[in-house]
Amino acid sequence: PRYTPADDRYDRMEYRYCGRSGLKLPRISLGLWHNFGGDTPHSLKRELCRTSFDNGITHFDLANNYGPPPGSAEEAFGEILKTDFAGYRDELIISTKAGYGMWPGPYGEWGSRKYLIASCDQSLKRMGLEYVDIFYSHRLDPNTPLEETMGALDQIVRSGKALYVGVSSYNSERTRQAVEILNDMGTPCIIHQPSYNIINRWVERDGLLETLDDLGVGSIVFTPLAQGMLTGKYLNGIPAESRAAQGKSLDKDWLTEDVIRRLNGLNDIAKERRQTLAQMAIAWVLRGNVTTALIGASKASQIEECLLAIENTTFTDEELSKIDALADS
Ligand code: NDP
Repeated sequence: PRYTPADDRYDRMEYRYCGRSGLKLPRISLGLWHNFGGDTPHSLKRELCRTSFDNGITHFDLANNYGPPPGSAEEAFGEILKTDFAGYRDELIISTKAGYGMWPGPYGEWGSRKYLIASCDQSLKRMGLEYVDIFYSHRLDPNTPLEETMGALDQIVRSGKALYVGVSSYNSERTRQAVEILNDMGTPCIIHQPSYNIINRWVERDGLLETLDDLGVGSIVFTPLAQGMLTGKYLNGIPAESRAAQGKSLDKDWLTEDVIRRLNGLNDIAKERRQTLAQMAIAWVLRGNVTTALIGASKASQIEECLLAIENTTFTDEELSKIDALADS
């Protein structure tokens, strides 16, 4: 059946400027890491994208290697762009990345100019796009000069293949260097994509969010739900229909009795706030200057639940310290 986006799609979502750029992003974005590969029915992928867009989620995040197999998430999204989102390209912010292993041999991963530019071309072809809105260096390559990796990002923008660029999982020190190199070339780094959630605090130890504020770079934080751990899903064990049970990237050994006890404690705080645990976890990452929370979903109803998080992103000091106590292992 033909899809027409909801008329009221911009009524409830909030948008924030991404750092000091002119680009606004929705407070919640959808990532296509899981559930967009060959192992998922195409009808579900379409439903996840439609539900997102109908609710003002204008930003879809991909990478060259999302699948399985690698590349298949971009292909599926390319199909959806043709069938469902045709005519809406200018309402969408589409990102992709290169950094992890994508094709065999020495040129299929990390941060060389050779890899990034070839990978960007491949991604555009798979999605059927002339350009992506944001192109990322997916991870720092310790063996390639940062000038080369950033130079490739600059060239990708100058050749019209991306509008903006960003980096993912770089620490503060390397982010500062990357931003400076890009500024010198006249292509600002507008966004950083780190992992961040109640139980994964590396960005706090690194001071990354303060660094980004200082540099005027926006942030899109991935795995705000700790891959589903910070939802109602695992409060009583591991259900069969879950990422942990399916042995994907979430290892069920992380869900120890102690962790489940802590999750239940967090769930009690969420209840007092009249939120679900998933909503509180998203609200928590959005409480400060983070631009957008990058969630994943295996069902449209999960997206609908998560969207309500933006209704209350304020925390009392007491709530924050109770959360810290439960998160600290
Ligand atoms: P999340 O932490 O948001 O976890 C998503 C998973 O949580 C879903 O697949 C689902 O799991 C579960 N879930 C979501 N909402 C609910 C709900 N309301 N109730 C119950 N369970 C729920 O993020 P992801 O790990 O999926 O990552 C999000 C995105 O971040 C990726 O798609 C990707 O774009 C990006 N990312 C980037 C990385 C990088 O290196 N830059 C690395 C990893 C991710 P289930 O399947 O069990 O139902």
